[in-house]
Amino acid sequence: MATILLVEDEMHLAQIILRDLAEAGYTTFHAADGEAALELHAAQSPDLVLLDWMLPKRDGLDVLRQIRQSAATPVLMLTARSEEIDRVVGLEVGADDYLTKPFSMRELLARIHAMLRRVELIEQTLQADRSPQAALLTHANLTLDPDAHRATIDDVSLDLSPTEFALLYLLLRNPGRAFSRAYLLDAVWREAYVSGDRSVDNAVLRLRKKLGDLGEALETVWGVGYRWRAD
Ligand code: CA
Repeated sequence: MATILLVEDEMHLAQIILRDLAEAGYTTFHAADGEAALELHAAQSPDLVLLDWMLPKRDGLDVLRQIRQSAATPVLMLTARSEEIDRVVGLEVGADDYLTKPFSMRELLARIHAMLRRVELIEQTLQADRSPQAALLTHANLTLDPDAHRATIDDVSLDLSPTEFALLYLLLRNPGRAFSRAYLLDAVWREAYVSGDRSVDNAVLRLRKKLGDLGEALETVWGVGYRWRAD
């Protein structure tokens, strides 16, 4: 069962939420201020964070920014004021969802369930992308053989590194699907994306060069990442 970190300084509300989460079968941790929240998040790596906005020491906004620098843990913001909502759902903060106080426990549990389910589905897709079935892929005169780890154009071998091969295989297997840099880094390099990381972009540049004319099919999707052009 999933673990949830509740960050809430109103003790009465915290007790109610913790009790209901436990009844629903979740393992819970509780932090009553922003600093304790970051310590617990680092120590326990919860599956989801319920994060109050107004907190002692560090506010929820600050906590969320810190968490986002190192982890993709889904965060549900709990806000008391309606003017906070625009900031929460906007790009500024990047919370995955929010609830305005007062909320019903039923609503909270439904949101938690939906968020965890979404993560599970993403994880399943990611697992499939990390372990490609050993199927031969072809596109025009390009052939990828995952068993032999060999890429050829008109039977001439391309000199691809393992990551270049994995990246090309993933893109080619899903023509038309746009992949974010963070997703590609996770699926191919198995690393967390840090803002400004150029690994994916550099690998794409190298791949395009090695693919020659076919390199055009490896398209940049502005604001997202990359995709293999669907025919
Ligand atoms: Ca509060």
